[in-house]
Amino acid sequence: MARAVFRCYAELNDFLSPGRRQRDIELEHAPEAPLRHLIETLGIPRTEVELILVNGVSVGLDRRLAEGDRVSLYPLFEALDVSPELRLRTHPLRDPRFLADAHLGKLARYLRLLGFDARFENDCGDQTLVQVARAEHRILLTRDRALLMRRELTHGCYIRAGSPWNQLEGLIRRLDLGRLLRPFTRCMRCNGVLASVDKGAVVGQLPSRVRDAFDLFWRCEGCAQVYWRGSHYQRLQRRVAELRALTPCRASLYKLSL
Ligand SMILES: [Zn+2]
Repeated sequence: MARAVFRCYAELNDFLSPGRRQRDIELEHAPEAPLRHLIETLGIPRTEVELILVNGVSVGLDRRLAEGDRVSLYPLFEALDVSPELRLRTHPLRDPRFLADAHLGKLARYLRLLGFDARFENDCGDQTLVQVARAEHRILLTRDRALLMRRELTHGCYIRAGSPWNQLEGLIRRLDLGRLLRPFTRCMRCNGVLASVDKGAVVGQLPSRVRDAFDLFWRCEGCAQVYWRGSHYQRLQRRVAELRALTPCRASLYKLSL
């Protein structure tokens, strides 16, 4: 057996048992065990790890450790300003698309409201979720740590908060999505894209109070739901402005740590 010392930074500590948080962790391991396996032994889904340094040098998940190696693990953080070769994954998520599991339907609707492609599946098994995430290059959103530990999964994100708005804020801060918001461009109901439509084409579907008060309309290309900028629109715009202004989390901490 060999021994290595691990140190986890920021939110990765949440996955550790209380006695292991914010301190060095000594792990005994077989010499041929890949780093990927040791990280999951600690209870950390590898999808949550953005950057691995071994003795100060960036490495990948298949690295095998030698006696006495020091391993630093940093969580996923898209805004981290490091050179590309330090990144664990090969492509950054600059056009993120999401897949929400059965417990995150509201989060999926909020993501759609902000213009993100967010598929929601509430009646399929874990294996299908992983397959869809892979096939469609989606980031799997879940509160199920075991699901994130599936080997075939390449992009996943552990959702910490309980309330949907807090989940949304956490995700925007964590992935630095504030610059990518395109609100009111996607259907909250089915994830379809909205296109502007002439009033005349939809007038038959409108309640009379809407027909009299509004002239601009949008229709979902997926389910044909018609949208207009009703009384909720101003309130939502204020909320979107707040979301756009959210600062990415832990930026200063990362710069210090690196
Ligand atoms: Zn729709």
